[in-house]
Amino acid sequence: MKPAGRLEAPPWRDDPAVGTLFAAFSSAGIGARFVGGLVRDALLGVAESREPDLAVDKPPETVMRALEAASIKVVPTGLKHGTVTAIIAGRPFELTTLRRDVETDGRRAVVAFTDDWLEDANRRDFTFNALYADRDGTLYDPFDGRSDLAAGRVRFIGDADTRIAEDRLRVLRFFRFYAWYGRPPLDGPGIDACRRNAGVLGSLSGERVAKELLRLLEAPAPADALAAMVEAGVLDHWLPEYAGVARLGALIGREDRPDPLRRLASVLAPGTDATALGKRLKLSTQQALRLDVMLAREPALDTTDGPKAWRAGIYHLGNNLYADRLLLDIEASGDWRAALALARNWTPPELPVSGGDALALGLAPGPRVGALIAAVERWWIDGDFTADRAACLAHLEQRVRAP
Ligand code: ATP
Ligand code: MG
Repeated sequence: MKPAGRLEAPPWRDDPAVGTLFAAFSSAGIGARFVGGLVRDALLGVAESREPDLAVDKPPETVMRALEAASIKVVPTGLKHGTVTAIIAGRPFELTTLRRDVETDGRRAVVAFTDDWLEDANRRDFTFNALYADRDGTLYDPFDGRSDLAAGRVRFIGDADTRIAEDRLRVLRFFRFYAWYGRPPLDGPGIDACRRNAGVLGSLSGERVAKELLRLLEAPAPADALAAMVEAGVLDHWLPEYAGVARLGALIGREDRPDPLRRLASVLAPGTDATALGKRLKLSTQQALRLDVMLAREPALDTTDGPKAWRAGIYHLGNNLYADRLLLDIEASGDWRAALALARNWTPPELPVSGGDALALGLAPGPRVGALIAAVERWWIDGDFTADRAACLAHLEQRVRAP
């Protein structure tokens, strides 16, 4: 593969960890190049911090031995796929051996290792995803990905239908990379092939789909990519709950940092079953629960009533979920910014009394204990959490003694 220019100031140039890594490679005769996001960012002049991916021209066992010989910690994160991870100064470097496809079925590929850079480039998906850069910044760009990146054009390497037949996930990746790097219009042959394949995406695994979808939603302005997906029919199977980007726009205008799961919640129809969606997309239990609360209508947020009502809301939902609900509630009136600041900065106190205190007052264990403590809690919240333990105990006692 011939060099195709160079990066003026590769972001890894003065990185001592990169120096350590390449010293180990060079004493073992391993060729290594940066690939993927870091190279794209460097070309675009964006300085997003991301974990470096490198391609290497020797099998993973050789790479592991070379790193161990140089006393670099190495974790066999995906030996079968040719990936090991070097950890230097606590930072991970993902190292993947050059590969070619041996067998594909639209869902997963059987790969073989190779030492041929062009073969490796040929199995990548889009022209700007087959950009490699040496340690010194020398670029390799076999499909002129640089022009496509500059033009905001997501272009398949080779024939789009063929590449999608090898791996249907590439349909979703087409829109993911469009969300991040694309400018209208969408590449004609690419979008046409995606549309033709929209009906066969159901055989993909939920995890892979979710990963692409959430990564897409993390882009600075993902609305156009989503709209294009809907238009091409590619969300029909995986996200029938999709309800448009109106709330997404409002959310993006409000959020302090992008959160893909919250953004996902913003495009779902009211009443979406978060559990069913979580199962389909193989979300973690925690993610599904969070979605469930974000989509719930109860308890309703009361943002009109000022800090006292905000504190009660934060207490009930927890700081993060309250902030989620607030950011998603485009009808929230009142000073939602102040409410959000409170959710970020205020730590709700703990109720200073418990069931044990009711028992100490002579009450028998049973449902009345829980009911009384709940009543004290309501009173304590209603008093804006000002009552201390003594006051709460007094109130509890008064209720216990009440007829
Ligand atoms: P980001 O860091 O934003 O996720 P990335 O380019 O690193 O972007 P990954 O999904 O991590 O994207 O994939 C790394 C590289 O592996 C891609 O740049 C691409 O060259 C190749 N790749 C990943 N998935 C596929 C696929 N399904 N088909 C072909 N090539 C792929
Ligand atoms: Mg990556």
